Amino acid sequence: MRAWTLGSGSSGNALLLESGGHRLLVDCGFGPRALATRLKAIGVVPESISALVITHEHVDHAQGAERAQHKWRWPVYASAATLDALPGITARWRRPVRAGVAEPLDGFTLEPVLIPHDAAGPFAYAITATASGARVAVAHDLGAVPDPIRRAFQACDALCLEANHDVELLRNGPYPWPLQQRIGGGRGHLSNAQGGALAAELASPALRAVVLLHLSETNNTPVLAERDVAARLGRTRYRGPILAAPRRAPTPVFDLDRVPGRRPAVSVQLSLGV
Ligand SMILES: [Zn+2]
Ligand SMILES: [Zn+2]
Repeated sequence: MRAWTLGSGSSGNALLLESGGHRLLVDCGFGPRALATRLKAIGVVPESISALVITHEHVDHAQGAERAQHKWRWPVYASAATLDALPGITARWRRPVRAGVAEPLDGFTLEPVLIPHDAAGPFAYAITATASGARVAVAHDLGAVPDPIRRAFQACDALCLEANHDVELLRNGPYPWPLQQRIGGGRGHLSNAQGGALAAELASPALRAVVLLHLSETNNTPVLAERDVAARLGRTRYRGPILAAPRRAPTPVFDLDRVPGRRPAVSVQLSLGV
Protein backbone atom coordinates (compact mmCIF):
# COMPACT_ATOMS: atom_id res chain seq x y z
CA MET A 1 0.00 0.00 0.00
CA ARG A 2 1.16 3.50 -0.83
CA ALA A 3 -0.18 6.76 0.55
CA TRP A 4 -0.03 10.45 -0.16
CA THR A 5 -1.42 13.33 1.81
CA LEU A 6 -2.83 15.94 -0.57
CA GLY A 7 -3.20 18.52 2.20
CA SER A 8 -3.62 18.39 5.96
CA GLY A 9 -5.06 20.87 8.45
CA SER A 10 -7.82 23.44 8.65
CA SER A 11 -7.20 24.56 5.05
CA GLY A 12 -8.23 21.16 3.71
CA ASN A 13 -7.62 17.46 4.21
CA ALA A 14 -7.34 14.53 1.81
CA LEU A 15 -5.36 11.30 1.92
CA LEU A 16 -4.95 8.97 -1.06
CA LEU A 17 -4.33 5.25 -0.55
CA GLU A 18 -3.31 2.89 -3.33
CA SER A 19 -3.02 -0.89 -3.30
CA GLY A 20 -3.27 -3.62 -5.91
CA GLY A 21 -4.35 -1.16 -8.60
CA HIS A 22 -7.13 0.31 -6.44
CA ARG A 23 -7.26 3.85 -5.13
CA LEU A 24 -9.24 5.22 -2.23
CA LEU A 25 -9.58 8.87 -1.21
CA VAL A 26 -10.09 9.63 2.48
CA ASP A 27 -11.74 13.06 2.89
CA CYS A 28 -12.20 15.73 0.25
CA GLY A 29 -11.52 19.09 1.86
CA PHE A 30 -10.89 20.91 -1.43
CA GLY A 31 -12.99 21.76 -4.44
CA PRO A 32 -12.78 19.42 -7.46
CA ARG A 33 -10.42 21.70 -9.38
CA ALA A 34 -7.90 21.98 -6.53
CA LEU A 35 -8.22 18.27 -5.87
CA ALA A 36 -7.56 17.41 -9.51
CA THR A 37 -4.52 19.71 -9.53
CA ARG A 38 -3.03 18.07 -6.47
CA LEU A 39 -3.75 14.60 -7.81
CA LYS A 40 -2.12 15.54 -11.13
CA ALA A 41 1.04 16.52 -9.22
CA ILE A 42 1.36 12.89 -8.11
CA GLY A 43 0.37 11.46 -11.48
CA VAL A 44 -3.16 10.38 -10.53
CA VAL A 45 -6.37 11.13 -12.44
CA PRO A 46 -9.56 11.39 -10.35
CA GLU A 47 -11.31 8.85 -12.61
CA SER A 48 -8.92 6.16 -11.30
CA ILE A 49 -10.21 6.57 -7.73
CA SER A 50 -12.84 3.97 -6.90
CA ALA A 51 -14.38 5.40 -3.70
CA LEU A 52 -14.42 8.35 -1.32
CA VAL A 53 -14.42 7.82 2.44
CA ILE A 54 -15.40 10.78 4.65
CA THR A 55 -14.42 11.14 8.31
CA HIS A 56 -16.95 13.91 9.07
CA GLU A 57 -18.81 16.78 7.44
CA HIS A 58 -16.67 19.76 8.53
CA VAL A 59 -15.64 21.90 5.57
CA ASP A 60 -11.94 21.11 5.85
CA HIS A 61 -12.81 17.43 5.28
CA ALA A 62 -15.85 17.48 3.05
CA GLN A 63 -16.32 20.82 1.30
CA GLY A 64 -15.53 19.27 -2.09
CA ALA A 65 -17.22 15.92 -1.47
CA GLU A 66 -20.60 16.60 -3.06
CA ARG A 67 -19.24 18.26 -6.20
CA ALA A 68 -16.47 15.66 -6.61
CA GLN A 69 -18.98 12.84 -6.16
CA HIS A 70 -21.18 14.29 -8.91
CA LYS A 71 -18.25 14.88 -11.22
CA TRP A 72 -16.55 11.52 -10.83
CA ARG A 73 -19.47 9.36 -9.64
CA TRP A 74 -17.67 8.03 -6.61
CA PRO A 75 -19.55 6.00 -4.02
CA VAL A 76 -19.21 7.84 -0.69
CA TYR A 77 -18.64 5.89 2.54
CA ALA A 78 -19.29 7.59 5.89
CA SER A 79 -21.59 7.35 8.89
CA ALA A 80 -25.27 7.85 8.09
CA ALA A 81 -25.20 11.06 10.15
CA THR A 82 -22.27 12.42 8.14
CA LEU A 83 -24.03 11.55 4.86
CA ASP A 84 -27.19 13.25 6.12
CA ALA A 85 -25.10 16.37 6.72
CA LEU A 86 -23.98 16.25 3.06
CA PRO A 87 -27.36 16.26 1.28
CA GLY A 88 -25.80 16.89 -2.13
CA ILE A 89 -24.44 13.34 -2.33
CA THR A 90 -26.55 11.44 -4.88
CA ALA A 91 -28.78 8.99 -3.00
CA ARG A 92 -27.72 5.95 -4.99
CA TRP A 93 -24.04 6.63 -4.25
CA ARG A 94 -24.49 6.90 -0.49
CA ARG A 95 -22.75 4.07 1.34
CA PRO A 96 -23.52 4.41 5.07
CA VAL A 97 -21.16 2.40 7.27
CA ARG A 98 -21.48 1.56 10.94
CA ALA A 99 -18.96 1.74 13.77
CA GLY A 100 -17.43 -1.66 14.46
CA VAL A 101 -18.76 -3.23 11.25
CA ALA A 102 -16.09 -3.97 8.63
CA GLU A 103 -16.99 -2.89 5.09
CA PRO A 104 -15.32 -4.43 2.03
CA LEU A 105 -14.47 -1.96 -0.76
CA ASP A 106 -12.57 -2.44 -4.03
CA GLY A 107 -9.09 -3.44 -2.84
CA PHE A 108 -9.56 -2.48 0.80
CA THR A 109 -11.50 -3.26 3.96
CA LEU A 110 -12.78 -0.33 5.96
CA GLU A 111 -13.27 -0.51 9.74
CA PRO A 112 -15.09 2.59 11.07
CA VAL A 113 -14.65 3.72 14.67
CA LEU A 114 -16.79 6.40 16.30
CA ILE A 115 -14.68 9.24 17.74
CA PRO A 116 -15.45 12.18 20.04
CA HIS A 117 -15.56 15.38 17.96
CA ASP A 118 -18.12 18.16 17.55
CA ALA A 119 -19.59 16.77 14.32
CA ALA A 120 -22.71 14.71 13.45
CA GLY A 121 -21.20 11.21 13.42
CA PRO A 122 -17.41 11.42 13.09
CA PHE A 123 -15.39 8.31 12.32
CA ALA A 124 -11.75 7.29 12.34
CA TYR A 125 -10.89 4.32 10.13
CA ALA A 126 -8.61 1.32 10.13
CA ILE A 127 -8.07 0.42 6.47
CA THR A 128 -6.57 -2.89 5.34
CA ALA A 129 -5.25 -3.51 1.83
CA THR A 130 -6.65 -6.74 0.39
CA ALA A 131 -3.57 -7.45 -1.74
CA SER A 132 -0.85 -7.12 0.91
CA GLY A 133 -2.69 -7.15 4.22
CA ALA A 134 -1.05 -3.80 5.07
CA ARG A 135 -3.12 -2.00 7.66
CA VAL A 136 -3.33 1.74 8.15
CA ALA A 137 -5.03 3.83 10.83
CA VAL A 138 -6.43 7.26 9.95
CA ALA A 139 -7.65 9.44 12.82
CA HIS A 140 -7.93 13.18 12.88
CA ASP A 141 -10.27 15.63 14.53
CA LEU A 142 -10.77 13.77 17.79
CA GLY A 143 -10.75 15.32 21.23
CA ALA A 144 -9.96 12.16 23.16
CA VAL A 145 -9.02 8.54 22.54
CA PRO A 146 -11.86 6.11 23.21
CA ASP A 147 -11.13 2.43 23.81
CA PRO A 148 -12.56 1.28 20.46
CA ILE A 149 -9.75 3.28 18.79
CA ARG A 150 -7.17 1.40 20.82
CA ARG A 151 -8.72 -1.91 19.85
CA ALA A 152 -9.18 -1.12 16.16
CA PHE A 153 -5.71 0.34 15.69
CA GLN A 154 -3.73 -2.64 17.02
CA ALA A 155 -0.94 -4.02 14.82
CA CYS A 156 -1.07 -1.32 12.16
CA ASP A 157 1.73 -0.94 9.61
CA ALA A 158 1.18 2.82 9.48
CA LEU A 159 -0.46 5.29 11.86
CA CYS A 160 -1.86 8.56 10.51
CA LEU A 161 -2.81 10.41 13.69
CA GLU A 162 -3.73 13.94 14.62
CA ALA A 163 -1.13 16.15 16.30
CA ASN A 164 -3.10 19.40 16.16
CA HIS A 165 -1.51 21.73 18.66
CA ASP A 166 1.20 22.32 21.17
CA VAL A 167 -0.54 22.87 24.49
CA GLU A 168 1.64 25.85 25.46
CA LEU A 169 1.31 27.56 22.08
CA LEU A 170 -2.47 27.13 22.22
CA ARG A 171 -2.66 28.51 25.77
CA ASN A 172 -0.44 31.51 25.00
CA GLY A 173 -1.60 32.09 21.43
CA PRO A 174 -4.07 34.56 19.87
CA TYR A 175 -7.19 32.38 20.01
CA PRO A 176 -9.95 33.60 22.34
CA TRP A 177 -10.54 31.49 25.46
CA PRO A 178 -13.76 29.79 24.25
CA LEU A 179 -12.04 28.65 21.06
CA GLN A 180 -9.04 27.40 23.04
CA GLN A 181 -11.48 25.44 25.19
CA ARG A 182 -13.16 23.95 22.14
CA ILE A 183 -9.91 22.90 20.48
CA GLY A 184 -8.35 21.47 23.62
CA GLY A 185 -11.59 19.90 24.89
CA GLY A 186 -12.79 16.31 24.74
CA ARG A 187 -14.69 16.87 21.47
CA GLY A 188 -12.02 19.00 19.83
CA HIS A 189 -8.53 18.02 18.67
CA LEU A 190 -5.59 15.98 19.95
CA SER A 191 -2.47 17.84 21.09
CA ASN A 192 1.04 16.75 20.11
CA ALA A 193 1.36 15.11 23.52
CA GLN A 194 -1.90 13.21 23.12
CA GLY A 195 -1.09 12.14 19.56
CA GLY A 196 2.38 11.04 20.69
CA ALA A 197 1.00 9.09 23.62
CA LEU A 198 -1.45 7.30 21.33
CA ALA A 199 1.30 6.50 18.81
CA ALA A 200 3.48 5.10 21.60
CA GLU A 201 0.61 3.00 22.89
CA LEU A 202 0.00 1.58 19.41
CA ALA A 203 3.66 1.04 18.48
CA SER A 204 3.64 -2.69 17.73
CA PRO A 205 6.42 -4.60 15.92
CA ALA A 206 4.33 -4.24 12.73
CA LEU A 207 4.58 -0.44 12.74
CA ARG A 208 6.61 1.02 9.88
CA ALA A 209 5.49 4.65 9.51
CA VAL A 210 3.94 7.40 11.63
CA VAL A 211 2.31 10.37 9.91
CA LEU A 212 1.09 13.38 11.90
CA LEU A 213 -2.06 15.02 10.60
CA HIS A 214 -3.99 18.26 10.95
CA LEU A 215 -1.26 20.46 12.48
CA SER A 216 -2.54 23.91 13.46
CA GLU A 217 -0.86 26.73 11.54
CA THR A 218 -1.19 29.02 14.57
CA ASN A 219 -0.63 26.72 17.52
CA ASN A 220 1.92 24.21 16.23
CA THR A 221 4.94 23.68 14.01
CA PRO A 222 6.12 20.53 12.21
CA VAL A 223 9.33 20.61 14.27
CA LEU A 224 7.45 20.75 17.58
CA ALA A 225 5.00 18.03 16.59
CA GLU A 226 7.67 15.65 15.29
CA ARG A 227 9.85 16.30 18.34
CA ASP A 228 7.06 15.65 20.87
CA VAL A 229 5.89 12.50 19.15
CA ALA A 230 9.48 11.26 18.68
CA ALA A 231 10.12 11.77 22.41
CA ARG A 232 7.20 9.52 23.27
CA LEU A 233 7.93 6.96 20.59
CA GLY A 234 11.56 6.94 21.76
CA ARG A 235 10.38 5.04 24.83
CA THR A 236 9.13 2.23 22.57
CA ARG A 237 11.01 -0.04 20.17
CA TYR A 238 9.78 1.95 17.18
CA ARG A 239 12.65 3.52 15.19
CA GLY A 240 10.90 4.24 11.89
CA PRO A 241 10.01 7.55 10.28
CA ILE A 242 7.80 10.23 11.87
CA LEU A 243 6.50 12.77 9.39
CA ALA A 244 4.31 15.84 9.91
CA ALA A 245 2.04 15.99 6.83
CA PRO A 246 2.52 19.28 4.96
CA ARG A 247 -0.49 21.59 4.96
CA ARG A 248 -0.87 22.36 1.29
CA ALA A 249 1.47 20.16 -0.76
CA PRO A 250 0.75 16.69 -2.13
CA THR A 251 3.35 14.51 -0.44
CA PRO A 252 4.14 10.80 -0.42
CA VAL A 253 3.96 9.69 3.19
CA PHE A 254 4.60 5.97 3.06
CA ASP A 255 5.18 3.06 0.74
CA LEU A 256 4.47 -0.23 2.44
CA ASP A 257 4.75 -2.21 -0.79
CA ARG A 258 8.51 -1.93 -1.13
CA VAL A 259 8.83 -5.33 0.49
CA PRO A 260 6.49 -8.25 -0.06
CA GLY A 261 4.10 -9.00 2.77
CA ARG A 262 3.89 -7.19 6.06
CA ARG A 263 7.00 -8.42 7.82
CA PRO A 264 9.80 -8.08 8.66
CA ALA A 265 9.52 -4.46 9.62
CA VAL A 266 11.70 -2.26 7.45
CA SER A 267 12.44 1.40 7.37
CA VAL A 268 10.13 3.23 5.01
CA GLN A 269 11.46 5.56 2.35
CA LEU A 270 9.92 8.95 2.87
CA SER A 271 10.27 11.75 0.45
CA LEU A 272 9.44 15.30 1.44
CA GLY A 273 7.86 17.40 -1.24
CA VAL A 274 7.19 16.43 -4.81
ZN1 LIG B 1 -10.54 19.17 10.59
ZN1 LIG C 1 -13.62 18.62 12.43
